[in-house]
Amino acid sequence: MNFLFFSVHWADVVAEKLIEKGNEHTLATAITPSGPIHVGNLREVITTEAIYRALKDKGAEAKLIFIADTFDPLRKVYPFLSKEYEKYVGMPISDIPCPCGKHKNYAEHFLEPFIETMDELGINAIIYRAHEIYKKGAYNETIKTALDKADEIREILNTISGRNLPSSWMPFNIKCKKCGKMNGEIYKYDYPYAYYKCKCGYEGKADLRIGGIGKLPWRVDWPARWKIFNVTFEAFGKDHAASGGSWETGREISRKVFGYSPPMPLVYEFIHLKGRGAMHGSTGLAVATDEIIKAISPEVLRFLFMKYEPYRHIEFDPGMELLDLADEYGRYERAYFGIEEGKIKEAKRVYELSQPYGIKGNAPSVISYRHLAIIAQIAKNFGEAKKIIERSGIAIRNEEKLKERYEKVIYWLKNYAPEEIKFEVKKEMPEIELSEKEKKFLILLNKKFEELDWNAEKIHSTIHETAKISGISSRKAFQCIYKIILGKKNGPRAGYFLQSLGKEFIIKRINDAINLNHKA
Ligand SMILES: [Zn+2]
Ligand SMILES: [Zn+2]
Repeated sequence: MNFLFFSVHWADVVAEKLIEKGNEHTLATAITPSGPIHVGNLREVITTEAIYRALKDKGAEAKLIFIADTFDPLRKVYPFLSKEYEKYVGMPISDIPCPCGKHKNYAEHFLEPFIETMDELGINAIIYRAHEIYKKGAYNETIKTALDKADEIREILNTISGRNLPSSWMPFNIKCKKCGKMNGEIYKYDYPYAYYKCKCGYEGKADLRIGGIGKLPWRVDWPARWKIFNVTFEAFGKDHAASGGSWETGREISRKVFGYSPPMPLVYEFIHLKGRGAMHGSTGLAVATDEIIKAISPEVLRFLFMKYEPYRHIEFDPGMELLDLADEYGRYERAYFGIEEGKIKEAKRVYELSQPYGIKGNAPSVISYRHLAIIAQIAKNFGEAKKIIERSGIAIRNEEKLKERYEKVIYWLKNYAPEEIKFEVKKEMPEIELSEKEKKFLILLNKKFEELDWNAEKIHSTIHETAKISGISSRKAFQCIYKIILGKKNGPRAGYFLQSLGKEFIIKRINDAINLNHKA
């Protein structure tokens, strides 16, 4: 179902459904910071945040919580880690040293840049770190319940997920006193004590009244936190939603073991890195959120998720398609401010929800990212870029925003732009040879240019006309122009390009080209 065509945004549809159940809501979102937090992870947070905003807009009481699973053990030595990390496998990521040495621990190394990005995206969540929640004893009651009802949990997991857990299995892993790994298996439970045996050989006794001595396994931890935080809504990836998956078992455990009615679920689709597959932090096939935010404005990144329903698959391409996305955002923006008419007028809500910090005053400058990507390669700095924009007759309505976009485009050009979009304007006339026909064309073109009102469309049509009169093909004519400016046969769309370079520069360059070839 495409909600856009009904002009009701998906976030409002979900919010309405939640309000039917009650007026107070806690929306939970969680990520394990065991590797770079990527754009795929971001979908969960942004999707939930949009519903949170929609709830508040409708007058409901809503809370948005973000739980960083900092108490999860390191599963393996990921490709981005050094071999030294072998010895930490099994330890909670909040106990492991950070890879760069600048952060408090391993988890913070990945969490901190993500929290900064959330801030830039205007995501205002209450942030919890799982190891701290455990340590404070917030889980203590649910841990006791889980251990008291271990048989029921085992039965649910065996029946629904098709596991074959032995009768000795207990739903709590103890952090071994000796090796610090989450490998302590309980062999005797006698509240308040748990007797455990670790894979390292250590045997010990843990006091369950003390917080942070161990962790519930994921499938039990998840429903436990619904109860602890009173969660009424949670979005999750389709891996959890699979038959026999953690949602199905969690739902049962929540009801039967913890006596808590499970939250309203929303299953979102994965984000694929175009042509390469689903993003996974553990394989390195991912674009980190704090990385992509340097190449695109936060509202454009939000727009990607606001435009598509969460159930829609997204192929993410940080290359050329990022510019397309930015330009599509621009169309929504112009429609929002009534600068441009169009069907997308219906989707005003998409634009609203894409703003990190609400809509401020006037419409930002109308210059497209695509155009900006050309100007950024011509100008030496922002001041010069501004002059080029003004010269081309585009009003700069919001200089701060324009500067931000300019800087993002520069980063994009350096890191993600495909080669074919990159160019360098030669400071001096490049050493190239021109044919008689080409020379004739340039001489005629300069005469016409001298008289011309310098705008992109007129420049474009003048090149076409002149080529025709000079007896060369339009293709050759454009190639000739690119050659004398860039020293290669192709370049950005000629009209805008020449306009941006300025009339004076172009006329001089064409003269240089004619003169250089006279001497030769
Ligand atoms: Zn670090
Ligand atoms: Zn141990």
